[in-house]
Amino acid sequence: MKFLALGDTADIAASCHFLDVNGTGIVLDAGTDPRRDGPDSLPKFDWVRDRAESYVDHAIITHAHHDHMGSLPVLVEEFPHVMAHMTDATRKLLDFLLPASARLQKKRFEKNETPHEPLFTEDALDFLSHVYLTHELQSDFDLTGVQGRGDLTGRFYSAGHILGSVGVELRFEEDNEERRLFYTSDTNLEPQSIIPGGEYPSTADVLILETTLGADEESEQTSRPEELERFRETLSRVIDRDGTALIPVFVMGRAQEMLAMLQRLKDEGSIPADVPIYTAGSLRAIAGIYDDTRKTTPRLDEDFEVYSVDQERVPYSSEAKADVLDGPGIMVVSSGMMFEPTLSNILARRIVENERDAVLIVGHAVEGTPARRLQEAAAEGPGAPVMLADGHGPQPLYCTVERFRFSGHSHRRELLKIVDHLSPETVLLVHGESEAQEWMQNAIEEQHPQIDVQRPGWGELIEL
Ligand SMILES: [Zn+2]
Ligand SMILES: [Zn+2]
Repeated sequence: MKFLALGDTADIAASCHFLDVNGTGIVLDAGTDPRRDGPDSLPKFDWVRDRAESYVDHAIITHAHHDHMGSLPVLVEEFPHVMAHMTDATRKLLDFLLPASARLQKKRFEKNETPHEPLFTEDALDFLSHVYLTHELQSDFDLTGVQGRGDLTGRFYSAGHILGSVGVELRFEEDNEERRLFYTSDTNLEPQSIIPGGEYPSTADVLILETTLGADEESEQTSRPEELERFRETLSRVIDRDGTALIPVFVMGRAQEMLAMLQRLKDEGSIPADVPIYTAGSLRAIAGIYDDTRKTTPRLDEDFEVYSVDQERVPYSSEAKADVLDGPGIMVVSSGMMFEPTLSNILARRIVENERDAVLIVGHAVEGTPARRLQEAAAEGPGAPVMLADGHGPQPLYCTVERFRFSGHSHRRELLKIVDHLSPETVLLVHGESEAQEWMQNAIEEQHPQIDVQRPGWGELIEL
């Protein structure tokens, strides 16, 4: 079996791993790098032919985050016979998110916000649905390629990360022995507010493991109930002083989980029921897909509907924004990393100097992003300068900034549990900063000296 990372593995970048299993070519995820633009954001699909001397028969899309699926239309253009496998919920999300992405790329190009032409157009997406094959959780599907020597079978396991998310198991024969590979993709063992914890096969020979939180010591020391309690206290303090709590979120997943959590806090009386919750953009459409699939996908409470949470739209004009920012209020807006020119960045610049207000960061903020800069400034103390956007500031930071660990990713001790449970021969560490991978490698080698732990480099062909 050959493994070749087509996206940068030493970072949270474009997830895309190529496997050649007995002549069958499989791509695990086809993402785009969220920090890059245009062709630079794509995985190196040409390496499949150049370096692995192979072809892509099947793509597996584990979930509907852009770093896992954003380049699928380009992959299908490069390898026109590829079939794309996913869950039905992921397909519904892709049918909404990919056209939205095409429109955004077009708009940015036309407004000269980027020199890059769109990677794909909305029209080009029409034929895409013909290459989608959807599968139920925990049921086998065939992945044998045209040139495949021997059967290759896939099976999805709920990943507990976002709606529709899965890890995938591949089973095949090699040298007359059955071999199993498991790719966790983004994974979460613990239940969130809407989505229950992930499920895993009982064993694997090769494990491809994400490492997003591998360098995050604090997240292993906090429990979800403790974080929820701290969140409840902080939020009610902000509301009591008539402040605005800005909660930057990823529209896909984190936003819906936060809305469910806020509704619970209202239901139990931790925050007043009449405090307005403001949302914007595609978050509501995605909530609709969460609700449509609530009886057919893993849920903690299949009766809960995200759409039933009372929400008002963040107003468009600057004056009206000033009105609602007067507080009290809760703003659940994109993007989680607070990239400019997203709404979370625009609103943050308007509240950071105000002591009454707060920015509550509820996920993992990658190094170098505005959300991380805000956390770093907050650690320096009141009045520390922060630059949230080019040409704005620095601004003195006076609002409350707190980080809560409601990540959709397992912390590093839980990731080790997955290794314990599957007891693989080989672990490939991917999807994490180098510090994170280093910690994971040391921890696995210490506990399981017999396991071969590898950190595949971007573009490095590995024989397994
Ligand atoms: Zn993800
Ligand atoms: Zn990811």
